[in-house]
Amino acid sequence: MTDANPGPIRKVVIVGGGTAGWMAAAAAARYLDDGQRQIVLIESDAIGTVGVGEATIPPILGFNALIGVDEREFLRATGATFKLGIEFVGWDTGDDRYMHAFGGHGRDIQGLAFHQLWLKLRDRPGIGGIDAYAPSAVAAYLNRFGLPTGPQTAPLAYAYHFDAGLYAAFLRRRAEAGGVTRIEGRITRVDRDPDTGHVRAVRLDDGRSVDGDLFIDCSGFRSLLLGETMGVPFEDWSHWLPCDRAVAVPTEPSAPLLPYTRATARTAGWQWRIPLQHRTGNGHVYSSAHISDDEATAVLLANLDSRPTAEPRQLRFKAGRRTSMWKGNVVALGLAGGFLEPLESTSIHLIQTGISKLFALFPDRGFSAVERDEYNRLMGDAYTSVRDFIILHYHATRRDGSAFWRHVRTMPIPDSLTRKLALFREKGRVFRYDDELFGISSWVQVLLGQNVIPVGHDPIVDALDADRVADAIRQIRAATIRGAQSLPNHADFVAHHGPFDRKNEFAK
Ligand SMILES: Cc1cc2nc3c(=O)[nH]c(=O)nc-3n(C[C@H](O)[C@H](O)[C@H](O)COP(=O)(O)OP(=O)(O)OC[C@H]3O[C@@H](n4cnc5c(N)ncnc54)[C@H](O)[C@@H]3O)c2cc1C
Repeated sequence: MTDANPGPIRKVVIVGGGTAGWMAAAAAARYLDDGQRQIVLIESDAIGTVGVGEATIPPILGFNALIGVDEREFLRATGATFKLGIEFVGWDTGDDRYMHAFGGHGRDIQGLAFHQLWLKLRDRPGIGGIDAYAPSAVAAYLNRFGLPTGPQTAPLAYAYHFDAGLYAAFLRRRAEAGGVTRIEGRITRVDRDPDTGHVRAVRLDDGRSVDGDLFIDCSGFRSLLLGETMGVPFEDWSHWLPCDRAVAVPTEPSAPLLPYTRATARTAGWQWRIPLQHRTGNGHVYSSAHISDDEATAVLLANLDSRPTAEPRQLRFKAGRRTSMWKGNVVALGLAGGFLEPLESTSIHLIQTGISKLFALFPDRGFSAVERDEYNRLMGDAYTSVRDFIILHYHATRRDGSAFWRHVRTMPIPDSLTRKLALFREKGRVFRYDDELFGISSWVQVLLGQNVIPVGHDPIVDALDADRVADAIRQIRAATIRGAQSLPNHADFVAHHGPFDRKNEFAK
């Protein structure tokens, strides 16, 4: 459309009421609230939501702040706990563990990346593993958490574990209070404009029709508008990420209440453990080409550390994304746009990215091609960089005991990742390209954790006085450990800061 004055978007229709739909609705209520626009969300109770997705990464704090959430209220409403990182168990040899902690480690000295200094000096006495320099890793190992108590205390980088259903309900209350209209019903037909191909209205099974200017497709894996209606193809990444199923089961909360997610490698996939205040979320992500559903369920049930509180639930998926996330007047968020397995807890973050980019490029009724293309480029890059980071965990391994691990260890990988691995292997160099989600510290922690050890280090480090640098980094180590030791126990902190209000569990 090239209308010179096409006019503003007056009505936004969000299709789907899972985490994606209600995040979009809460953000829209906050940012499109100019009294001129109508925001409608349609969801089907009969279809329901995917009902998983409980571990997040630090940018979630930014999203909650954007929509005006008070942290204590949020913890009480969603049973949330604090998350300082992910502990990977058994990903290299089967008998190893490392922490991918949030935030950086150490401190750069004279402009040189901390990990380069560490690479050079790591064999000296008192230097130890690089994780001892990451405040969030040390606090996680000590099972401690706290917020800064004054200007002298450095904040820990953290995210949350929360109950996905309770988070959606929490967002729904905010969105509805902000003027979003919720319609319950199942969409059975989609009407398109014969000239432009844009979606004009969706029809519900009871005959109601809901029209709109902009449609945000949050309909989950089915991708009702973007995939089914607009015909945007799915780009399949399962040759790199063969896990295509999960079985999930909640268990009773177990002590101690750990401030991190655990991801344990299994023979044909991996198992998650997500501690919430009122229960623990558990799941086994696996490749159906390498293990049956029954075996996968048995593996999960044999490796729980508390009693199940429900029957195991099976989920199916495919790694990949829609080749465009915006076509015509339809923008897809969440599972409707693509899926990457939850190994690094990135899906909710990708929803958040989609929302912020959509608002940054918010269209008028002319639906500028240049804005749409920019959105698609930015979202394409966001998915690709996360994809490479996840593939790294599988590919850089010495595990050899099963067909699954032999496959992922030897499979061809994307060129972008091959380049990153080669650069790191040589002199430990890592670069962050464009808007890449995971920073240098994340790549370094996972590369080293997966036993990718550089042959050398940045030669510029050799210009520094090695003894003095070694003393300086020993001091950083000691200060990091002291800082973590001074923090409260995680469970005590949560109980004081935002104890779960159980009535939310029953109001769901
Ligand atoms: C096994 C697994 C584990 C995961 N773990 C994590 C994690 O730890 N961290 C993380 O960030 N993400 C995780 N995710 C991803 C996360 O669950 C999703 O990104 C998130 O829940 C968003 O889902 P959604 O809202 O896009 O889709 P859904 O929850 O599926 O919601 C779809 C909505 O569309 C509605 N709908 C569909 N069709 C129609 C129709 N015809 N008419 C009306 N309404 C309709 C449904 O009723 C529902 O309301 C995980 C995913 C899986 C599969």
